Amino acid sequence: MSKSSAVVAPGNGPGLTRVIIVGGGAAGITVAAELKRHMAGLDVAIVEPSEAHSYQPGWTLVGAGVFTRRQTERMERSLIPEGVTWIKAAVTAFDPDHNVVSLSDGRALGYDYLVACPGLKIDWDAIQGLKETLGKNGVCSNYRADTAEYTWRLIQGFQGGTALFSQPAMPIKCAGAPQKIMYMMADHLRRRGRLDSSKLKFCLAGEALFGVPFFVPPLQTAVDDYGIDVCYRHNLIAINGPAKAALFSVTDKDGVARDVEMRFDMIHVVPPQTGLDVVRESPLANAAGWIEVDQATLRHVRYENVFSLGDAASTTNAKTAAAVRLQSPVVVANLLAAMQGKAMPKSYDGYGSCPLTVALGKIVLAEFAYGGKVTPSFPLDPRVPRKSMWYLKTKFLPWLYWSHMLKGGTIDIRHRERGW
Ligand SMILES: Cc1cc2nc3c(=O)[nH]c(=O)nc-3n(C[C@H](O)[C@H](O)[C@H](O)COP(=O)(O)OP(=O)(O)OC[C@H]3O[C@@H](n4cnc5c(N)ncnc54)[C@H](O)[C@@H]3O)c2cc1C
Repeated sequence: MSKSSAVVAPGNGPGLTRVIIVGGGAAGITVAAELKRHMAGLDVAIVEPSEAHSYQPGWTLVGAGVFTRRQTERMERSLIPEGVTWIKAAVTAFDPDHNVVSLSDGRALGYDYLVACPGLKIDWDAIQGLKETLGKNGVCSNYRADTAEYTWRLIQGFQGGTALFSQPAMPIKCAGAPQKIMYMMADHLRRRGRLDSSKLKFCLAGEALFGVPFFVPPLQTAVDDYGIDVCYRHNLIAINGPAKAALFSVTDKDGVARDVEMRFDMIHVVPPQTGLDVVRESPLANAAGWIEVDQATLRHVRYENVFSLGDAASTTNAKTAAAVRLQSPVVVANLLAAMQGKAMPKSYDGYGSCPLTVALGKIVLAEFAYGGKVTPSFPLDPRVPRKSMWYLKTKFLPWLYWSHMLKGGTIDIRHRERGW
């Protein structure tokens, strides 16, 4: 795309620097609010096509019947920070060589600085037959709000039989989510005396229960306690809902793959996840399809006026809202410094967090940074399942998200590396 007269020029008024934020999800709203708090006169616009905004970390709780779907949703309009322009469209192309993005409504938008945070693509098409059967025939997923509601209906009605839980290759949003719902279901069945007549199987593409080895023992304890079968190197490739059959590509230790069919009464599916097509096809992407930023400064490695964070970024942290909370102040401080031609003052250490719901009312709070460093916020052994962390997940973190983070708040919950 070349810069043409159709391009809406940067700046609403003389001398105003225009920042375009692509994506009004967790990252986009937080960065916009923080930018306005630091520099009220800045011209900030968010490009976001959706009317509704979801608190995705709550979807696991919707699937377990702890939250209603309504508790996880707000109108996007109500979250756009004061003084920020909402452009209700999707970006269809990035042209960072000309500082322009193309929009789905046909316009092209010029910018001085770009914050690209449009999230990732959940590839429902990558599993053959999934789209046709998702939301019926015992096939559910907490990776969509409506089918998370269906997860809870299936759990409530489960009278025994086989329940499968799939997990694709990494990276995915919240790497713990595929197994969190499994433990919640197992606990629910045990409380109703139905666990003994049920077979739960965790079928994962990888070779470990969790990417950070420190947190594997408490998860293994949960798996053993509920009698769950764990099937490593099992990659879900097709589903036949009416026949209640799932097809896995199973790779042996020598790398030889064969297809294995498993029957189910219920299956919780997590599809593979990639960069969005619009990102993958742009000069912003790395070879893997993620927006290529410096791991510490979150500034693009080729375009100095571009920053990225959240699920879309190439950083190797856990793709979580917890990571976004820590990345946002880094992007804002570094972006403001870039405007003044100064060195980047802040760096991100790769912090992410995964509240692993090993039972109803009990959580192992996994907090970690780049390189698998264990970096808890509290001086407590994080491997121990705790009721206090359940309250953190169900009460404090939703409040923190809606009332603090998305408003550009300044509460700093310090995490640090501790030894045990
Ligand atoms: C089931 C589940 C459980 C989770 N559990 C946890 C948890 O316990 N703890 C935790 O911290 N995190 C959890 N997460 C992850 C967390 O929700 C995400 O990491 C976080 O929302 C990422 O924020 P983001 O802004 O990068 O992406 P998103 O919040 O997904 O926002 C991206 C936005 O970009 C918009 N967009 C898409 N394409 C375009 C386009 N072309 N142009 C403009 N806008 C576009 C989308 O509409 C969306 O609003 C969970 C996620 C899921 C799905």
